Amino acid sequence: MTKHNRPDNIRRQLGLRPVINVSGTMTSLGASIVVPQAVEAVSAILGEFVEMGDLHRRASAVIAQLTGAEAGFITASCSAAISLAVAACMTGPNLWAIERLPDTSGLKDEVLIQSGHMISYGAPVEQAIRLTGAKVVPVGQATSASAYHLAGAITDRTAAAVFVVSHHVVDYAQIPLAIFAEVAHARGVPVIVDAASEYDLTGFLAAGADLVLYSGHKFLGGPTSGIVAGPKERVRNVYLQNRGIGRGMKVGKEGIVGALAALQAWKVRDHDAIRARERRALDCWIETLEGRAGVNVSIEPDPTNNPLDRLKLTIDPAQARITAWDLADRLAAGDRPVIVRDHEVEHGYFLLDPCNLHPDEEFVVAARLGEELDIARKSNEIIATPFNERVLTSEAAILNWPD
Ligand SMILES: *Cc1c(COP(=O)(O)O)cnc(C)c1O
Repeated sequence: MTKHNRPDNIRRQLGLRPVINVSGTMTSLGASIVVPQAVEAVSAILGEFVEMGDLHRRASAVIAQLTGAEAGFITASCSAAISLAVAACMTGPNLWAIERLPDTSGLKDEVLIQSGHMISYGAPVEQAIRLTGAKVVPVGQATSASAYHLAGAITDRTAAAVFVVSHHVVDYAQIPLAIFAEVAHARGVPVIVDAASEYDLTGFLAAGADLVLYSGHKFLGGPTSGIVAGPKERVRNVYLQNRGIGRGMKVGKEGIVGALAALQAWKVRDHDAIRARERRALDCWIETLEGRAGVNVSIEPDPTNNPLDRLKLTIDPAQARITAWDLADRLAAGDRPVIVRDHEVEHGYFLLDPCNLHPDEEFVVAARLGEELDIARKSNEIIATPFNERVLTSEAAILNWPD
């Protein structure tokens, strides 16, 4: 096994476990590896004063260049961007209304969202809407929404319609974005697209989004931040929310400068080389796992068509002598904790996501998989924690913080 020489004293100093992330860009793990260009930019600006209006102007130009939109704005997170975009659709440029939120009296304040899009990304998307004072109006049923549901839900109080792009949304029988936008636009309703984790910086605007929102700290590898892109007037109305509810969601100079550097770096990133490196990690794991009893591996393309493949491990407990969730939990324990993508682990599988690995960490992951699977094979009893027990344990753990 090759050893990487990355200096990593900070986690040790703080007494934090040196986790390896094969889960994805997860807020709970610190989002993503911030690209070196952003790290440098952040440290360069921290000791300087800037005129924030001008810095936001500069950011707008860079976002415009990358997205093809007229303007752009950086806020604290994509979740903040959802709230501020909704607020902007309600208040327009009315500073009096902006200061009054979340009191929406006199404003259009209904926001439409397909029921199958009402997901949690760690917090409920509809709460980000409601924070503004808006009322959420669900469209259709979780597993079935049609254009007529959307058209029927539009009233003279409709302020906006939110469309979520995510592996979390129900992935069938939803209204496609182009149709969603056509129906909304026919009645003058602006469409906000939450594309937090999507690599595509231009397609959603082209498909009819009026405002498109991204996370700065996911695929882009920026510091914690959210990015808004769209026509100048709409984006200005989002910017103006900084004088209202946006204050508590403000991004500092370091967040803006870091997100800008990450956007610039994205433009010149060698995407093919990264793809090839990710593929080598998958191949390394396949090699380790092939021929092992009760472990079935397959390459899974990203469900929302990001150019990213993951490795799916389906575990047959009778053969492997361990359940998928017990294997995930054992990998997450110990001196080199490996955190896997286990959103759907009750179905007997989890995924390994190669997009946040430091060089050579794939070998550690392979070694840990081999180690835990060997232990399980030798176990007399099948290692099988009842799934309900696992659910209750993880819920209880949250409520015990900071203990
Ligand atoms: C991650 C995510 C968010 C939240 O993004 P933050 O920038 O972390 O606030 C919102 N929507 C979707 C679909 C996400 O995946």
